[in-house]
Amino acid sequence: MRMPLIAGNWKMNGSLALVEEFGRAFAGVSLPVNVEVALMVPFPFLEAAGRALGETSVTVGAQTLSDQPSGAFTGEVSAAMLRDCGARYVLVGHSERRILFGEDDAMVLARVKAALAEQLTPVLCVGETLEEREAERTESVVLGQVEAVFDALDEADRIRVVIAYEPVWAIGTGRTASPEQAQAVHAAIRGYLSRYDDALAGGVRLLYGGSMKADNAAELLSQPDIDGGLVGGASLKADDFLAICQSAG
Ligand code: PEP
Repeated sequence: MRMPLIAGNWKMNGSLALVEEFGRAFAGVSLPVNVEVALMVPFPFLEAAGRALGETSVTVGAQTLSDQPSGAFTGEVSAAMLRDCGARYVLVGHSERRILFGEDDAMVLARVKAALAEQLTPVLCVGETLEEREAERTESVVLGQVEAVFDALDEADRIRVVIAYEPVWAIGTGRTASPEQAQAVHAAIRGYLSRYDDALAGGVRLLYGGSMKADNAAELLSQPDIDGGLVGGASLKADDFLAICQSAG
């Protein structure tokens, strides 16, 4: 059975005060035992988030990493540093990184490998733009992004990757993919993974991301191939994020 994962992505938002608020909010509630929850915070908040959420089952993660282990790369942060600061997950290839910072498939692959080498779980983000969807290229774009990483990993590593399908047109726009649209792409990804082997296809967790909110999460999460959510805007409000986590149980 695939354990659902709800991952919050704060992007470049939040503050130490918000970290503390989340610590208090999550300490006071019991999360469903069969759901994993992670919060991807900006680098400077990693340690504080680990402390604030230490009494809860919420794990922390980062939003990107360097593909290099160390050296003269001013401003970069390595996988080992993230682990030192308590991260267990790291987003890789978020569409904002691909579009705003020019990360291509080769750079995404190098970061996935760097994360795996330090025992971090990479959450590989894939998704099509509106233009690509309208040109009926959704599957080829998304499966191409998956293939660029999975083809280059060995069998033992493939199962350690979480995939987040995030249609670019649904991120931060308030426009959510319908449960049917999301399920169709998730099923296509799982079908693609079965080319490697059925155990991989049955085991890899596939998250949906793109304007997931407390009022649409349950329907999206009830789809057979949707194993959780990657939540941006709604992960900045403790009550909203908690409600999404509860609806995954
Ligand atoms: C995201 O940042 O990955 C995301 C899905 O954002 P939002 O939920 O705000 O659309």
